[in-house]
Amino acid sequence: MTKVLEAINIHKSYDADTGPVNVLKGLNFHADTNEFISFVGPSGCGKSTLFNIITGLLSPDEGHVLINNRETTGSPSEHLGYVLQKDLLFPWRSVMENVILGLEVRGVSKKKAHEQAGELFKTYHLEGYENKYPSQLSGGMRQRVALMRTMVTRPDIILMDEAYKALDYPLKISLETELLKVVKEQKKTVVFITHDIEEAVTLSDRVYVMKAHPGEIVQEIHIDLQTDARDIPQRRLSPRFNEYYEQIWRSIGTAPLPAA
Ligand code: ADP
Ligand code: MG
Repeated sequence: MTKVLEAINIHKSYDADTGPVNVLKGLNFHADTNEFISFVGPSGCGKSTLFNIITGLLSPDEGHVLINNRETTGSPSEHLGYVLQKDLLFPWRSVMENVILGLEVRGVSKKKAHEQAGELFKTYHLEGYENKYPSQLSGGMRQRVALMRTMVTRPDIILMDEAYKALDYPLKISLETELLKVVKEQKKTVVFITHDIEEAVTLSDRVYVMKAHPGEIVQEIHIDLQTDARDIPQRRLSPRFNEYYEQIWRSIGTAPLPAA
């Protein structure tokens, strides 16, 4: 296995009115080629802070981030693409123009960008929507466009922060099934951030369980659902599912509530 992402001893505090608040305390983790890992933990445990540190949008107070064995701490990496819960599409740009944004920024010609993006419209079942505008799409379609915009730059690592949180359940299941198929076929590495234990177990090869105040990794769990099925309902129905669910729930579910 080749480590494509590694984080060593990540610490982060924020300055609050009452003094510094220790948000992340000594996190160590890694992700391998073609591996789907998740971070699961309660709201406020520092998942988005961690996301910002991996993408290089934020610098840790201590620690290192390495992508393909090169230190990238505090700076962006071309190997990494990300998708957020809010799809952040530009309303004044057509769907195609939104998808090719990352290529345009990299100086790829419009013609080449359109060619590269064209293939994705087939994969993500959005053929015919190239010239529509985001306001003409459903929530699920918009989230697909956001994923296409990330995938078109061909990142090795895809980082997702609660990307499917706002979607209704059936739509979430179908988008997750599609995601799993694409990333496994294309041998991508995914770092998936969620508060949803069910989502983490059904999608992941490995799960890091976090607790809050301060945010720490309390457990690392290898998931083997003993099924080759890539659709989420089949994976959910694996007899092993409940064991993993319980194991994770026990390590985060009993955490005391933070003081109001
Ligand atoms: P999560 O994504 O798991 O909900 P966050 O990383 O968003 O957690 O936040 C972790 C903690 O850090 C929370 O207590 C939050 O209030 C605090 N926090 C997040 N961003 C900032 C900031 N920019 N300044 C001060 N505190 C912050
Ligand atoms: Mg968050």
